[in-house]
Amino acid sequence: MAFVITELCRDEKAAVCLDVCPVNCIVMTDTQYVINPEICIDCGACELVCPVEAIFFEDELPPEYNSATQLALNHFRN
Ligand code: SF4
Repeated sequence: MAFVITELCRDEKAAVCLDVCPVNCIVMTDTQYVINPEICIDCGACELVCPVEAIFFEDELPPEYNSATQLALNHFRN
């Protein structure tokens, strides 16, 4: 389980989440920031600072943002 960044990030890309993540598991893609679920330690720090509330715990992801989990998995797939 991990935190997930939804498409709400796309027009914002504020990047404050990068500053607070203790394990540096957030990276930029072509469209938005994504969280590496293999490294995220579920601390929740990024969720608290996101100015557009784009970040959710995976279990609490609203259904309309389900594609966000797959986006992250695809990005970090080797
Ligand atoms: Fe980083 Fe914590 Fe956010 Fe996971 S929950 S991406 S470890 S700040």
